[in-house]
Amino acid sequence: MQKHVLSKSTFIRGLKCSKSLYLNKHNRNLKDELSEMQKAIFNQGDMVGQLAQQLFPNGTDCTTKTFYNFEESIKKTQLCIQGGEKVIYEAAFQFNGVLAILDILVKDGNGWKAYEVKSSTSISKTHINDAAIQSYVIENSGLKLDDIYIVHINNKYIKKNELDLAKLFTISSVKDEISKIEIEISSEIERQKKILNQKNIPTKEIGPHCTSPYSCDFIGNCWKNVPEYSVFNISNLSQEKKFDLYNKGILKIDDIPSEYPLSKNQKLQVSCEQSNQTIINKEKISNFTSELLYPLYYLDFETFSSAVPIFKNSKPYEHMVFQFSLHIQKHKNGETTHYEHLAVADGSDPRLSFIENLIKYCKGTGDIVVYNKSFESSKIEQLAVAFPEHQKELKQLISRIKDLMVPFQKKWYYKKEMKGSHSIKNVLPAMLDNLSYDSLTIKEGGMASHTFAQMMSGTFKGNTENTRKDLLEYCKLDTLAMVEIINKLNLEVISI
Ligand code: SF4
Repeated sequence: MQKHVLSKSTFIRGLKCSKSLYLNKHNRNLKDELSEMQKAIFNQGDMVGQLAQQLFPNGTDCTTKTFYNFEESIKKTQLCIQGGEKVIYEAAFQFNGVLAILDILVKDGNGWKAYEVKSSTSISKTHINDAAIQSYVIENSGLKLDDIYIVHINNKYIKKNELDLAKLFTISSVKDEISKIEIEISSEIERQKKILNQKNIPTKEIGPHCTSPYSCDFIGNCWKNVPEYSVFNISNLSQEKKFDLYNKGILKIDDIPSEYPLSKNQKLQVSCEQSNQTIINKEKISNFTSELLYPLYYLDFETFSSAVPIFKNSKPYEHMVFQFSLHIQKHKNGETTHYEHLAVADGSDPRLSFIENLIKYCKGTGDIVVYNKSFESSKIEQLAVAFPEHQKELKQLISRIKDLMVPFQKKWYYKKEMKGSHSIKNVLPAMLDNLSYDSLTIKEGGMASHTFAQMMSGTFKGNTENTRKDLLEYCKLDTLAMVEIINKLNLEVISI
């Protein structure tokens, strides 16, 4: 058997970008390294795939001991089909130089049904293309399919006691969608084969396709001429305008002509960059700070999520709270007292101890200051639904929340060092040079979330005691940053 030229995943890559297809085959050394977060997403996908096999139990797995021994997998699949197996996992087929490995193949009566498992909560165009190439290879290999399905996560599912796989997964036929594009598959395969046989790397400019519908893994190579801070960082600027500027040879914000059509806030970002000016709308900021009701409770949460719900009364991908930091400031610019909570990552539900401590420390009156109200409010709302016995106290906390992000989102305060962003990670170093996330081991929420998820699943390899301290330090800085930002805003408006 001849070695395949394309696989299902390289075919999908080729549909997105010819250059990516070519580099993946001939210049793999240019690929970006996978981050720990990306690895975690892939691992989650594998876990979901294995779980979905239980929808069709007692199948035969056609993967071989050596992962890349595809010939062996193809032979094993044929033997299973001829031997009367009813359920086959990782069934391998090859046709016209394309290898396809299907997640689950099921014989239903006299016909065969194909199932491709995705860890997403909906079906995308990429999934349809993915199923179309599978169907093309399988049917042309001689196995007629009665139907082909995408199995994906049902994000409406709420876990009760035991995991209910029939409710966790949604199974949707994509046969009709595939029939609309199957005619183009064969010519697309030939086009991609020609590209792979070229001597030189195909010319392809960077564009929206680099990041949509998912990020390409050659961005480090193709985007190396784009500065770290560029027209691509103008806040809320459409992709169309970003690439319009790029295609005109304008990469630096400094070089944007004054007549270029931008919104009021985008113009403000550009003019601050060009003139090094700081914007402080004292009146608006004063209105904001004077409405704050002391004592102030500066609060920040950390959450983690999982495709498959772990705890009772939780949904797939629900952000599960596990940690908070709280600074309480009794008087304007006054001293603070710090409280914190970090759940024990022993596999038990972290929410109840979180709720009890949150209610205990936030008891009383005074505004609760958060950075991005919609996040914290929605998490407390979810807790109130999952734990109705605490609903009253939790709803009362929501009614006290004030959003410190507003002055920065609305650009009442803006410095060029914020680089168009109103994230606290950009605002803090721009306003205060004595506080920074740089020296911390855990520097951002994604890393905190990933670390705690590993601890929960028992896959964490580091020093648990030290890492718990790192998690506490990170979350503490988020609330301390808010205290210092409010103090600084109070100082800025003192002359009003
Ligand atoms: S970064 Fe963009 S242009 Fe480069 S290979 Fe990827 S998709 Fe193609």
